[in-house]
Amino acid sequence: MHQLIDEASRAVGVELTELQRQQFARYAELLMEWNQKFNLTAIANPEGIATKHFADSLTLVPVLARLAAEHAKPITTVLDLGTGAGFPGLPLKIALPHLQVTLMDSTGKKVMFCQTVIDTLKLSGIRAVNGRAEEAAHDLQHREQYDLVVARAVAPLATLVEYLLPFVRVGGLCVAMKGSDAEVELSQAQGAIAKLGGAVLALHTIQLPSTQDKRAFIAIQKNSSTKTQYPRQGGGPRNKPLR
Ligand code: SAH
Repeated sequence: MHQLIDEASRAVGVELTELQRQQFARYAELLMEWNQKFNLTAIANPEGIATKHFADSLTLVPVLARLAAEHAKPITTVLDLGTGAGFPGLPLKIALPHLQVTLMDSTGKKVMFCQTVIDTLKLSGIRAVNGRAEEAAHDLQHREQYDLVVARAVAPLATLVEYLLPFVRVGGLCVAMKGSDAEVELSQAQGAIAKLGGAVLALHTIQLPSTQDKRAFIAIQKNSSTKTQYPRQGGGPRNKPLR
């Protein structure tokens, strides 16, 4: 596993220390163990974990460095919404330990798994919260509190921005990790982004190493406070996306 992790992280330009390598290896073990009892993720073999989960999550490291530099944005507090088994938030925390990370998911057993990884790896400055965006984003503990909000594989962009932007502090960013349809999704989400106080900063696309997959990053800056009516409760963002 150590070697797979090394190759996968190098391929996306991230060098790991011995401690980080051990943390990723332990994380992979826990994921394989838990996945036999609970269905946490469809990809739970060593190669898949190294490339599709760890390396893919780590592609955010250079993207964040670039966004922080180009837009002079200090990024400290990070929310990973719909984190599932911890992606991309946990790999990001392992690679960039100074970040203050919140992992949030509406499924209790996934949050329990994330908490187990946090405890086992003895990580500090990271928490796992059981919550649904439609409700948690109205909670003042979370609303407009984060420098950066990220999500991978949670919802189509027009729905996703209604989940993410309310959590972002004014002046902060959200980054959606998307596949090959990113441009179409982006064109369909323009109205929603504007209504929520956001503006598109960048669309970056890369080829994921060792897979056929394309990875797109849609970065949105939050320019003004999101109206308190958003996110709408009761399935609105999903059933009737803003336009
Ligand atoms: N980000 C992870 C998991 C993707 S699966 C990865 O890329 O591997 C989508 C996850 O989002 C699921 O775990 C689901 O429970 C969670 N989710 C979906 N809608 C949500 C919502 N409205 N609020 C919080 N979590 C949500």
